[in-house]
Amino acid sequence: MASRPAYDGDSPGSPSLQSELASGVPGVLFCYQLSEDRTRHHYPFISRRVEDLFDLDPLRLQVDASAVFSIIHPDDRPGVMPSVKASAESLEPWQYQARLRLKDGTYHWFEAHSVPRREADGSTLWYGQFTDIQAHKELEADLRQKEAESAYQLQFHKLLASLSSDFINSSIGDIDKEIDRFLSRIGVFFDVDRVYLYRFSEGLTRMTNTHEWCRPGVPALKMSQQEVDISGFRWWQEQSSNLLQNNRVVFIEDVSKLPASAGPEKSLLEGQGVAAMFCIPIVTRGTVDGFFGMDSLTVRHWRQDLSDLLILVANLLAQALERFRLEQELLNQSIRDPLTGIHNRRYLEPRLDEMLARYQRSGEGFALAMLDIDHFKLVNDTYGHLAGDQVLQAFARLLQEQCRATDVAARYGGEEFILALADVTPERARWALERVIDEVRALSVSYHGQDIPVTASAGLVHVSDLETATASADELITEADRRLYRAKRSGRNCLIDASGSLPL
Ligand code: GH3
Ligand code: MG
Ligand code: MG
Repeated sequence: MASRPAYDGDSPGSPSLQSELASGVPGVLFCYQLSEDRTRHHYPFISRRVEDLFDLDPLRLQVDASAVFSIIHPDDRPGVMPSVKASAESLEPWQYQARLRLKDGTYHWFEAHSVPRREADGSTLWYGQFTDIQAHKELEADLRQKEAESAYQLQFHKLLASLSSDFINSSIGDIDKEIDRFLSRIGVFFDVDRVYLYRFSEGLTRMTNTHEWCRPGVPALKMSQQEVDISGFRWWQEQSSNLLQNNRVVFIEDVSKLPASAGPEKSLLEGQGVAAMFCIPIVTRGTVDGFFGMDSLTVRHWRQDLSDLLILVANLLAQALERFRLEQELLNQSIRDPLTGIHNRRYLEPRLDEMLARYQRSGEGFALAMLDIDHFKLVNDTYGHLAGDQVLQAFARLLQEQCRATDVAARYGGEEFILALADVTPERARWALERVIDEVRALSVSYHGQDIPVTASAGLVHVSDLETATASADELITEADRRLYRAKRSGRNCLIDASGSLPL
């Protein structure tokens, strides 16, 4: 290459070799010179293309390079000169990417490549070119965005799979803990401030917050959101019915922009510091029984497909709730008597074992009574089997009503029932059973206009009646049965305990 390139842009009739070359390559060829004291710079040569591309005059650049610097995007400008100077210092090739302003005012990314050479006068000369890399940059950005997007989708599906398996592996007693954990993982994933689950009352007049997760530092609302009367929230009711009928997401992007008709809702949400919220219905067995929601305390940009993702989340939650409900139902079925709805023997036995263990550990006494309806066969024979069923139901209801929460009333078989009274003395147990027998006597079951009289006999055992060391649930039941038999023999409609026959 010549020691000094010469620009011949002013002799259009005979373009120089450099100019010919420059017009034949993509990009802008240049030769850039920086004075030894780094205060002056110019382009001894630059392709004519700068005129078409940037509306820069190559002749003026021959004198002063500053015009090129003025078209660098302000954000990219600060780094340019230091890098040029570093290249002048080290004589390492200069390579740089920056956005340059085109003739039409838009910016394109360009990349510069050049090799420096020190001149005899101490100045530095670079030979190189700028190339438009906009398309490449866009492709790169597009690719990066697609990568980020598929990474996000992958993460989301992994989260769903993990939440789903957590639900499947959890047991029914853990449902509340599982839902809390679920909400917290959703809250963290979507980077929101509050995530919650509400249940609607029947008739949709009230709603109750059943589970809530809050980002640390964000105040919890659950306690103030119990049995909330929503009849005053017209706008919200409209949204909810939309939510109910169309299984749609309610999305408030900016609470401050709610319509005038949503005045009460707006002041409530603003009072709670909520700036944006999403609510997604929870549908189980075809009906909406609540909603799952997320709050953000700041207005922000949301993903376009967030509603779709949240519907998947809500579906997962609905499936889990449905499974827990079914399990609860099954469990209930296995420990309850289908005719009367009270507990059965399967439930009773472990409860008796617990009472025994407490008695042996801490001396807390308890009692067990076996009750049998008198002449029940006669009820069936006189009024029919359905009437007999009604008597059994009324009898079971009565026993249940006489129970405290810690007691157990169970149907033991046919028309035999057991009452286990927790934490009682023999006297107190006797008093309670006498009251039960009295209540039964007062019970009148009406069937097709006829009143069916009911009485019952009972055998009562207090755990202290037995040898402590050998006491077992079976022994208690056997002894109660024995006393019941004696009550029957004594004329029925009475109670027998350790003190023997005491006709009532
Ligand atoms: P006692 O006073 O000695 O107890 O006489 P009882 O007639 O009540 O006793 P018994 O054991 O002779 O008859 C019990 C009857 O209860 C016989 C059986 O058909 C009836 N029974 C058992 N389970 C049911 C039920 O689920 N529904 C109805 N309607 N009857 C039942
Ligand atoms: Mg009977
Ligand atoms: Mg019987």
